[in-house]
Amino acid sequence: MSDANLFRDASDPLLRSWVASAVDPQNDFPIQNLAYGIRNGGVAVRIGDKYLLLKDALDAGVLCAEFEGVCWGASTLQTGSLNAFAKLSAAVRAKLRAHLAWVFAEGSPARAKTEPLLISVDAPTSNDAIPFVVGDYTDFYASLHHATNVGSMFRPTNPLLPNWKHVPIGYHGRASSIVASGSTVVRPKGQTVANDDGPPTFGPSKLMDYELEVGFFVGEGNELGTTIPVAQAWKHIFGFVLVNDWSARDMQKWEYQPLGPFLAKNFATTISPWVVTREALEPFCVAGPPRSAEDPTPLPYLQDPHGCNVDITLEVTISSAKMRADGIAPTLISRASFRDMFWTPAQMLAHHASNGCNMQVGDLLASGTVSGTTKDSRGCLLERTWRGTEPITLGDGTERRFLQDGDEVIMRGYCEKAGFPRIGFGECKGQVLPSKE
Ligand code: CA
Repeated sequence: MSDANLFRDASDPLLRSWVASAVDPQNDFPIQNLAYGIRNGGVAVRIGDKYLLLKDALDAGVLCAEFEGVCWGASTLQTGSLNAFAKLSAAVRAKLRAHLAWVFAEGSPARAKTEPLLISVDAPTSNDAIPFVVGDYTDFYASLHHATNVGSMFRPTNPLLPNWKHVPIGYHGRASSIVASGSTVVRPKGQTVANDDGPPTFGPSKLMDYELEVGFFVGEGNELGTTIPVAQAWKHIFGFVLVNDWSARDMQKWEYQPLGPFLAKNFATTISPWVVTREALEPFCVAGPPRSAEDPTPLPYLQDPHGCNVDITLEVTISSAKMRADGIAPTLISRASFRDMFWTPAQMLAHHASNGCNMQVGDLLASGTVSGTTKDSRGCLLERTWRGTEPITLGDGTERRFLQDGDEVIMRGYCEKAGFPRIGFGECKGQVLPSKE
């Protein structure tokens, strides 16, 4: 199986698949994507509206079991997470990607053996799983527009704190409550106050919100006490997912000083199940937004000569329980682009490791809420309704300042450019359930 003809360039925009749904221009998963996830307890690759378990493909003799002298078999492919898979060297994974492109390419002799192995993503046994065992989860705050909007609500004359343009701000989140798209989320209870100084009461949050974010998984870590240079950081990233950082604003307001977010954030974080690899996203890399003349030059350790923001269009829709019962389509709440982020993924990762903190395979780093310059590009309800003062109207005629029980939040992300098939993330969705007694 060393024949060069067994490999194709998956990022070739002209490559087409024999899987019919993968050539639908509105599908997120063309042959150029080849996103990875976990299904049925094993590593799967997504193509169109199907997926292929790599173990099945190995057993059927469709895939090579060895690349670059590295064998990868059941222990790598049937572990219930992508952690061992992501530890394969970049060279081996590149070979595998090229080999999968050959398997799925129009005219491939592998079609006859592969087609019977494909499983529909809607099959009842195919519940979405968290793709990695996440050891640590960190959430950044990297959108200038989000930070400025939120800051101006609380500090109208001084929205951006003096550190913001120098240091990528973040906090350590909670890994145990990361859930897959489709999971329900129970409205949290906590301390809230009617007046800024209290006293607090304990009960269900009344100001529940989402935050539209992009996350990325670390594919190659660093030893404790060492760093990840910013110029190399992009290559330490395995791939990207959509993230909904559910937030209880009334709890957040009371608890966040002096140490930052805690119980207002850690009750649930929803992620999309298919990890879109950095290789698939590279055709959509763009430079970050230009810094203004007054902006500080980043310190040398944050100066990224190959700085890559990814041009991902991000959308949030909401449907109420009544809308779903009446067959009303979800209402579009906002649309923004990840390209507008002030700090790039490489800068976030390099900064995280800059003090010698060891990053590990499967660590999840999220960007913070992605907002743009316009009202309809604001990535959470706090901003979108301006603390509830400008409610939005859903398709059933009801108003929203914050989320109601039964609301389903659906996030989507996709990359588009002329001459290239659309690469997308699928859905990141979750429904709010009432607080438990
Ligand atoms: Ca957040």
